[in-house]
Amino acid sequence: KKVIITIDGYSSCGKSTLAKQLAAELDYVYIDSGAMYRAITLYFIQNRVDWNDTDEVNEALGNISLEFVYNPITNVSEMTLNGENVEHMIREMLVAEKVSEVAAIKEVREFAVAQQQQMGKQRGIVMDGRDIGTTVFPHAELKIFMTADTAIRVERRYKELYAKNKNITLHEIKENLELRDYIDTNREISPLRKAEDAIILDNSQLSTDEQLKLVMQWVEDAIMV
Ligand code: C5P
Repeated sequence: KKVIITIDGYSSCGKSTLAKQLAAELDYVYIDSGAMYRAITLYFIQNRVDWNDTDEVNEALGNISLEFVYNPITNVSEMTLNGENVEHMIREMLVAEKVSEVAAIKEVREFAVAQQQQMGKQRGIVMDGRDIGTTVFPHAELKIFMTADTAIRVERRYKELYAKNKNITLHEIKENLELRDYIDTNREISPLRKAEDAIILDNSQLSTDEQLKLVMQWVEDAIMV
């Protein structure tokens, strides 16, 4: 039996690391819902869309086509925006600084959620984000809500981003994580929340191997039901 697994939580808790491991282990499809909000934000920035203007937002969304394209070398799907691979660009600070603002817009969420629900029609999927267990797949068989200490999250994200950009500072990363978490938890539409039936996973003290072992047990339990 193939199921839907949702992973929600704060920024940089290691959601995508876990999701990728699970997808590989179970031969499931991994979908990074945050990449979709990042790609929409990139489009808005590149095309100078005024996202406070609903008409402009709707027109822009009408011109956006998002697709995940499988990369056999990295073994994960990469985000494409109107046919262009934007996987690297969407991870940059420029996008990170604005994405939560854009993701709080009703029209943007409706656009993204509709596509995410469509992807869920094929069973055997792991999707990570902020509202996957609460809004996108409220009936998912296994829901995980991840947390980790802020200092650990900052450290992890720093290592990841510093490899690509030596000018980045710990301070800048901490500010960005806190800002995004604040906007994501306080927005009006589908704010970041733990679904009632989600299992909390605090991975501050867990290695990725320990974490995978633990979660695979939960997956087995979910599949048995
Ligand atoms: O997961 P990631 O950190 O790449 O997500 C970037 C941003 O996209 C989040 O900070 C949040 O504002 C938004 N997001 C969202 N709902 C999701 C996934 C991401 O609002 N399901």
